[in-house]
Amino acid sequence: SDDVRRQKVENYMAEMRFSAATARKIQDVFISEMNKGIHQQPSSLQMENTYVPELLDGTEEGLYLALDLGGTNFRVLLLELAHGAPIRQEVQRYYIGSELRVGSAIPLFDYLAECVSDFVISQGLQDVELPLGFTFSFPMIQHSLDVGILVTWTKTFNCPDAVNKDVVRLLREALDRRGDTKVKVVAVLNDTTGTLVQASTLDHNTAIGLILGTGSNACYLERADRVEHWEPERHGEREVIIDIEWGAFGDNGVLDFIKTDFDRENDANSLIANSFTFEKYIAGKYLGEVVRVILAKLTKEGLLFVGESTSDSLLTPGNLTTDLISHIEQDSVDGGVSNTKEILGKFGIIPDEDDIRIVQYVCEVASNRATLLVSICLASLLDRIDKEQVTIAVDGSLYKHHPRLENWMKQYISLLAPGRKFKLIHAEDGSGKGAALVSAIAQRLK
Ligand code: ADP
Repeated sequence: SDDVRRQKVENYMAEMRFSAATARKIQDVFISEMNKGIHQQPSSLQMENTYVPELLDGTEEGLYLALDLGGTNFRVLLLELAHGAPIRQEVQRYYIGSELRVGSAIPLFDYLAECVSDFVISQGLQDVELPLGFTFSFPMIQHSLDVGILVTWTKTFNCPDAVNKDVVRLLREALDRRGDTKVKVVAVLNDTTGTLVQASTLDHNTAIGLILGTGSNACYLERADRVEHWEPERHGEREVIIDIEWGAFGDNGVLDFIKTDFDRENDANSLIANSFTFEKYIAGKYLGEVVRVILAKLTKEGLLFVGESTSDSLLTPGNLTTDLISHIEQDSVDGGVSNTKEILGKFGIIPDEDDIRIVQYVCEVASNRATLLVSICLASLLDRIDKEQVTIAVDGSLYKHHPRLENWMKQYISLLAPGRKFKLIHAEDGSGKGAALVSAIAQRLK
């Protein structure tokens, strides 16, 4: 009967629903990995020093540039600041052809420099000295605010000769080869840091930046005296932004106790197995695939789409994208079925009522697990930061579009960090504006 079927599905999914004890254990592991990372001991959390030691102080004025590489679009951006806040913004998107994204680094950086000068000249600013913040959203090791060594390319980029090189230097050299502007690269950062800094102009309690998009990562304001890795001379800094790089949380096996067969299959289907463990539980690039793996398994076990010809399309890795999970979750919010039916229809499946309920249940459990994992880590951060009131700035399409994530996060964080006052705000375009703002901070601190 349908009740038996439903019960069997719930049994399959039981491992994805954490008990309070499991949640506590995850939190303990996260805290321990953070402490190890910050003390330079082996850990799956890099806890990178960004060398951004303070936020805007309201005195920043003038024109600042940003170069944003590594997100969905490549852009150059000009920000005009008055009293530490943006009053004008100009943006130009540029296209990077696939032939530039692989191969030697010189043509790529020459092209980046060409776009910067094209933009600066189009603004009539070629004779003005302009500080530039470089958002470089790839794994890097920072030696100071303006030195970032590329660890490895990801996404669609692969220029091997840039690995282990300072990307700021590569950009400076390319700008020097042109010599047609007065642009000065003063800072390198990733989109997470940009999000925190950008949001701090909207809400001065901002102390955590979070990305929930294709990937996931977070950064936060840490007490400077707790940070061991600090290469340049210190100047009495009280705080500094730490980039956790939590996408790799668990790559060393510390999170294996939550790994299900579904996760093992998701990992096996991914480009780089055994890496970005945490991201594979939570980020937009993977959430749809987790659901797809479960649905395929339930179909094979005769628990879903019984009597339907099995859809090859649904059995193919990568075919269920995370935006579709949001649409199905919207049905659950509305008590409806239309989105779910339509999406399954596109896979050539005509579901019965129980199929629909099971598919919705799977999307809910996978989304809920992702939310709980993120919330556990955020609650640990709130405890660590220990400020009266903390605003968490979030960017990324998964957060923006998933219909239940935000409310669940509020509930879970409240439960897991009792007594802590926090607020979630949606901060858009940290990777653009945030980089220009960091260049303004860098300029002021010089
Ligand atoms: P990026 O992180 O690459 O800079 P985004 O923040 O736009 O860019 O994130 C893109 C990711 O968001 C994609 O992996 C996609 O799966 C996911 N996504 C896009 N639309 C939605 C949606 N409606 N609901 C949930 N996730 C979505």
